[in-house]
Amino acid sequence: MPTPCFCNSSQLFEYCCQPIILGKREAQTAEQLMRSRYSAFVVANINYLMNTHHPKTRPSKDKKSILKWTRSVEWKGLEIITTSVCEPSSLEAYVEFKASFIEDGTLANIHENSYFVKENGKWLYKSGIHK
Ligand SMILES: [Zn+2]
Repeated sequence: MPTPCFCNSSQLFEYCCQPIILGKREAQTAEQLMRSRYSAFVVANINYLMNTHHPKTRPSKDKKSILKWTRSVEWKGLEIITTSVCEPSSLEAYVEFKASFIEDGTLANIHENSYFVKENGKWLYKSGIHK
């Protein structure tokens, strides 16, 4: 049964975020990385979240607590608000997004302007400013 991608791209998961999460394909843009990280939260792939987080800012929070949290919420969707113009040669980018979820019966969201950098040909999440 094909699953529509969690990132609301209107593509199927198996052609959208899944191959990126599984390491079969690199995220070509910061937005693709952002989308795949959202989908990784939905499927609770914490290793992928850690691997795509810049080592300098990677959370010290242990993987188990992130896993427990992401499994405790019901993810409702991702909305990309803006993406900075990004040339193929760009080494940094911003993506503003809103991710919605239900936690303890209440609809909540993360509204963040995320900062991504490209190092050794890979996009990495570096930091985010909560809105
Ligand atoms: Zn996707």
